[in-house]
Amino acid sequence: MAVPGTINRLKRVPIKQRDPDERKKDFDMYIFPYTREEVMAESDRCLACGLCVPGCPARVNIPGYVRAMADGDVEKGINIIFKDLPLPQICGTVCTHRCEDACVFHNRGDAVAIRHIKRYIAENSDYTKDVKVNKKPDTGKRVAAIGAGPASLTLGYYLALNGVHVDIYEKHKVAGGMMTIGIPRYRLSMEILNKEIDFIKSLGVDIKYGVEVGKDISFEELMEKYDAVFIGVGNHRPRTTGTAGSEKTDRVMHAIDFLRRVALGEKVDVGEKVIIIGGGFTAMDAARTSLRLGAKKASIFYRRRFEDRPSAGTSNAEEEYEETAAEGVEFVWTVTPFEYVVENGKLKGMKYWKNEMVEQEGGGRAKPVPIKDQEYFVEADTIIEATGQTIEFSFLPDHIKEKLEMDWNNIKVDANGMTSIEGVFAGGDAVNPTKDIISAVADGKKAAKGIIKYLNLQ
Ligand SMILES: Cc1cc2nc3c(=O)[nH]c(=O)nc-3n(C[C@H](O)[C@H](O)[C@H](O)COP(=O)(O)OP(=O)(O)OC[C@H]3O[C@@H](n4cnc5c(N)ncnc54)[C@H](O)[C@@H]3O)c2cc1C
Ligand code: SF4
Repeated sequence: MAVPGTINRLKRVPIKQRDPDERKKDFDMYIFPYTREEVMAESDRCLACGLCVPGCPARVNIPGYVRAMADGDVEKGINIIFKDLPLPQICGTVCTHRCEDACVFHNRGDAVAIRHIKRYIAENSDYTKDVKVNKKPDTGKRVAAIGAGPASLTLGYYLALNGVHVDIYEKHKVAGGMMTIGIPRYRLSMEILNKEIDFIKSLGVDIKYGVEVGKDISFEELMEKYDAVFIGVGNHRPRTTGTAGSEKTDRVMHAIDFLRRVALGEKVDVGEKVIIIGGGFTAMDAARTSLRLGAKKASIFYRRRFEDRPSAGTSNAEEEYEETAAEGVEFVWTVTPFEYVVENGKLKGMKYWKNEMVEQEGGGRAKPVPIKDQEYFVEADTIIEATGQTIEFSFLPDHIKEKLEMDWNNIKVDANGMTSIEGVFAGGDAVNPTKDIISAVADGKKAAKGIIKYLNLQ
């Protein structure tokens, strides 16, 4: 039962954060978890209508665990969540929480704080004791997964429960994929990552660290040795703007390279003035990381307007924008860089044009068109391009790649998560146009079910 007299169904129990001027000095997490009293009061707002469930790619039984938490039953809550999501504390901390945009309260007050309720349940559970694992006997079947991101980890979890051994091949010395080498520590701590990855490993999922498929072991060898192969390689090939001057200095870098270096413990020197090109969550993370590395000024330059930025209008994008702006990051809208100015090997700054937004005939997104009769210049010690990334395909030999059907830049899979190559499954950012953790989790679970069917283990 919630605390009497505390419930206003339209208003969320406030979530506390560290002061922006303080938190930008370090990499410690800055959003405080609910207390037990707060989480029970917040959970009690839920009407159990279920409108949020289709908003969640993994279709987690949200009203089920929220009700359990309203009753103070953490153990029941964690077991409901684990049916569909084996990374609840990670998702309770950084999920894009699209379910909250679907909550019945979203348009007339505050959505139920689903993500924070999940975070509380996960944070207050000891998985090895509380999660009821019903592991089936070993089937003798073996699956190889490429990449230790959320897609492969989820696949490993559900296959392990079904008696299938999974070896995950990960080229880095750490697991977690972009959750570990993309998302900065002030949003997601190593403690949380380790807790969930270790639990999955404790079920028998084997992570082979520092083994790059295509270099240290071939894809064909995996196909020969295993009963099925899962591609969970994510999107790790940077997309760059190709702006003139970028080739002349190492002070122009891509955001995913920059964030990975910082996450792996490198003290990257960014100088005092940092410019970030882009407008999505990677741009925000690069800007906020720059401040934490000592930059005095971090400015995000984006080619479109505020209202056109990626995911604009979702509560996740609004929260990220507000939290980034509160830390003092500057935003400059509707600009196109055309030269990174380098003198004697030293980056001086960036030349750019302002854009006008041209509406498209027949609708569609307005297009940014540079107004080239006036040029602008801004000083910079470092320029970080957060302009997207795509699949790095070098792990696949050409004759196999030719057979792999694509859907634009994504690997095409069927309803069972299988690619156009028999026995080869895929999921996560390499497949899904919605590139977030919960979509990768949903894909991993779908492929696990598909593999069980494919191996006739039902
Ligand atoms: C900066 C940033 C911030 C983000 N913030 C959020 C957020 O707040 N919330 C959210 O939900 N999502 C966020 N995302 C997106 C989220 O991290 C991804 O959608 C998710 O991690 C994709 O999971 P995945 O399993 O498909 O691949 P990944 O997590 O990318 O993992 C793929 C793994 O495969 C490995 N690999 C690749 N090729 C090989 C090979 N040949 N051999 C062996 N290993 C290989 C890689 O090293 C990597 O570890 C963010 C992404 C970035 C870049
Ligand atoms: S939509 Fe909101 S109120 Fe309805 S079940 Fe989901 S969290 Fe509860």
